[in-house]
Amino acid sequence: MAAYDYDLFVIGGGSGGVRAARVAAALGKRVGIAEEYRFGGTCVIRGCVPKKLFVYASQFPEHFEDAAGYGWTVPQARFDWPTLIANKDREIARLEGIYRNNVQGAGGETFQTRAVLVDRHTVRLEAEGRTITADQILVATGGRPALHPALPGHEHCITSNEAFHLAELPKAIMIEGGGYIAVEFANIFHGLGVATTLVYRGTEILSRFDMDLRRTLHETMETKGIRILCHSISEKVEKRPDGRLDVTVTGGEVLTVDQVMLAIGRTPNTEGLGLEAAGIETGVTGAIEVDAYSRTNIDNIWAIGDVTNRVQLTPVAIHEAMCFIETAFKDNPTRPDHETIATAVFSQPEIGTVGLSEDEAVKRFDEVEIYRATFRPMRHTLSGRQEKMLMKLVVDAKSRKVLGAHILGPDAGEMAQLLGIPIKAELTKDDFDRTMAVHPTAAEELVTMYKPTYRVKNGKRID
Ligand code: NDP
Repeated sequence: MAAYDYDLFVIGGGSGGVRAARVAAALGKRVGIAEEYRFGGTCVIRGCVPKKLFVYASQFPEHFEDAAGYGWTVPQARFDWPTLIANKDREIARLEGIYRNNVQGAGGETFQTRAVLVDRHTVRLEAEGRTITADQILVATGGRPALHPALPGHEHCITSNEAFHLAELPKAIMIEGGGYIAVEFANIFHGLGVATTLVYRGTEILSRFDMDLRRTLHETMETKGIRILCHSISEKVEKRPDGRLDVTVTGGEVLTVDQVMLAIGRTPNTEGLGLEAAGIETGVTGAIEVDAYSRTNIDNIWAIGDVTNRVQLTPVAIHEAMCFIETAFKDNPTRPDHETIATAVFSQPEIGTVGLSEDEAVKRFDEVEIYRATFRPMRHTLSGRQEKMLMKLVVDAKSRKVLGAHILGPDAGEMAQLLGIPIKAELTKDDFDRTMAVHPTAAEELVTMYKPTYRVKNGKRID
């Protein structure tokens, strides 16, 4: 081992890379980690964390409106975008410091540089103009927003990266895509007072989610004032003399906006990493190919997180890092488990979901019971807001196992985290039924829906 400078060298200081470096260092391994931009990666620097801060910012106008029903008179509110950006940046800088310190505190060495593989044991640190050697190498370089070179005028468009640093809040924005990022940002911008249009090529937004949630969220967003065009794409983006943008969408309509944001997926960061020099294979999307233990085709080089394009979620990258540590350093080969991952979309209202959607379940099981409730959350009784909450459990009629839970409404993400436990543990609807409700909460619906709303037998709905 001492033949190499490091036992482990990690390329990429995001959630996955930092976790692996920190834990390996705490085990007494000689660890180095290189990050070319900022420690913390997509999640901390320009993803989950700043996004959630923006979500909070964008919710205040509705809170101000809702306050009236509870007797409050709220004076005319004013919003200052530069204040939000500055405060967000301060918080991100604080978190970045924590990430870096965590590695150093555990005894790891951090490098602020791009790192490139020279061969299977050698890494060049570009900013330092030198190479180091390592016994094990972990690639955790993440991904970046996909660009759209086929779209005429794509150079005028921004992605989520730029959305976190706009000098001015646009008056009108068009967002292309119907996934997590498009939907979350449509709600953020709308909440901040921006005229927002979402343009999605498919039939219904959020293609990987339960159809009930998708439809109900779509309707609710439209009721709030977000324009959603499905079966639509932008065909060209042209800059006008006044600096605004004209976007021609399917059917010929021209939308005049201040910004066009592309949210059409993310691309793994694998270019210029020296993968060819080290002999590492990539797949069709450019992602690094790994086996069930996150090992590449080169047996001392591993890859985790978005660069492998398995499931692009922060907790998944962290889990993959922990499994990598078990496998590589604790003699305990451990495969990451990518089944039944609870997730949230921080739309407004929020989505929290875990397990199979109704459509997936009816394909896999002969008979499925659907328990479904829609109601006005208690908070909205006095506020007068008409928004409905939706809860749905998908149950296998034969085994009684709860296969999926889908929630749309306030705190749905928090509920999904907790529902992840019984659903991962494969508990049954009877276990839910004998669980006492917590009253008065919205979540109590999850344990008080005693009768199926309908069943689906061999693909046919029975009411
Ligand atoms: P998604 O994969 O969620 O969505 C991409 C969207 O872009 C889809 O609606 C897709 O359509 C559409 N699309 C793809 N290519 C084109 C194209 N050429 N023209 C027009 N539309 C196109 O990606 P995101 O960028 O929203 O997010 C990336 C990942 O980041 C997510 O998969 C998620 O894992 C993660 N993320 C998680 C969050 C969370 O946990 N809350 C928040 C934000 C991101 P179609 O449906 O037809 O394929």
